[in-house]
Amino acid sequence: MELYSTKHISPIVSLKEAVLTGLPPDNGLYVPTKIPKLPSTFFDSIEEKDFREIAFTVGYELLQHAVDKSALKAIIDDAFNFDTPVVPLEENIHVMELFHGPTLAFKDYGARFMSRLMKYFLRDTNKEINILVATSGDTGGAVGYGFLGVEGINVTILYPKGKVSEVQEKQLTTIGGNVTTVEVDGNFDDCQHLVKTAFLDKELNAALNLTSANSINIARLIPQSFYYYQAYAKLKESGRPLVVAVPSGNFGNLCGGLLAQQMGLPIHQFIAATNINDVVPIYLKTGIFQSKPSVATISNAMDVGNPSNFPRILAIMGQDEQAVKNKIHGLAFDDDQTKKTMKEVHQRFGYTMCPHTAVAYLGLKTWLSKNQQPATGVLLSTAHPAKFMDVVTPAIGKTVSLPPALAEAYQKQKVAVPLSNRFDDLKAYLLSK
Ligand SMILES: *Cc1c(COP(=O)(O)O)cnc(C)c1O
Repeated sequence: MELYSTKHISPIVSLKEAVLTGLPPDNGLYVPTKIPKLPSTFFDSIEEKDFREIAFTVGYELLQHAVDKSALKAIIDDAFNFDTPVVPLEENIHVMELFHGPTLAFKDYGARFMSRLMKYFLRDTNKEINILVATSGDTGGAVGYGFLGVEGINVTILYPKGKVSEVQEKQLTTIGGNVTTVEVDGNFDDCQHLVKTAFLDKELNAALNLTSANSINIARLIPQSFYYYQAYAKLKESGRPLVVAVPSGNFGNLCGGLLAQQMGLPIHQFIAATNINDVVPIYLKTGIFQSKPSVATISNAMDVGNPSNFPRILAIMGQDEQAVKNKIHGLAFDDDQTKKTMKEVHQRFGYTMCPHTAVAYLGLKTWLSKNQQPATGVLLSTAHPAKFMDVVTPAIGKTVSLPPALAEAYQKQKVAVPLSNRFDDLKAYLLSK
């Protein structure tokens, strides 16, 4: 497998280099030079395969010998050791629950696959690798848990003191093992700045082999294509065209879907559902991409004003803007609509959605009501509602109970290293470890 940069300045690289460096030096994004097509026989019997078998077949075809067959099988079996259920909700609407991993959000798919792939590519070095990551809440947990117990790799997570939710702080500060958490006296921008400065610091890099676990690493994108096949496998018998609604922020999840579709997965229509951070829905309507400052909403994991995966959407679709506009329908919803939807879905079906999932449900319902043709709809549920109980509980008027993984985190003692937002303090701390 080879990858090029969307800016076309940096050279073409192997998967190993793309995964270990994260970003090309020209600051573009890595995209596969060739997207292989799966044989039609694969789709003829896909419903007989389980999620891990599907992931392996698709992954092996896409990675093309970059990873040894048995190693890839082991990586996939170990990374996806949890369920990916597709639950019926109402006539023609299903929910694919992507929150059964350790941090109860879909980012577990990307983080767990990336960590194991990195370990594989580092198997011949006996150097210890240090991952440094800044988080505003969700990513840190997924990366920390993704690398938990992965030998030879240590993780340091930086989060802004007092600026993450209670649930998020519990998750971030109780991981343990090879994962250390630093509570920075500052905001998320300070955390990000500290990480960027650390990567530029020669002394620190020489001493610690710093590596990023960047959210746009291609290793996080690839596994996000696997579960779209799962949706198709589970819903194939309906015989109707498949419509998939994706709650979107940085658009990594949707890129996974487009990758699957380009490999031959029959997806009739994608719905990119956003909150009022609607840069992409506006682009899909007008053809003009204009980033803007992000606005805070209750679906805060989608508060992105400049979706960094946008160039990848175009690249995966072969720069065919018309194809992008035909394949993806963009719809944006505000917080009032989201709250009302959480409440109504709970009342009508007894099903509790996180705010991001509710945005996707709104997108799917809106599309289905406007398009009279028969279709089977599936929406991606990106987080367990308990992760966002501060907004879900008042919306549905009922307390969301804690799933076991969270209840366990609540039992544990918070462990975090307090630091100022000065780089010298972070550097001294990292060197002293
Ligand atoms: C990250 C995240 C999203 C947005 O996914 P993108 O790949 O950034 O579009 C949606 N919902 C939840 C719960 C998330 O954590």
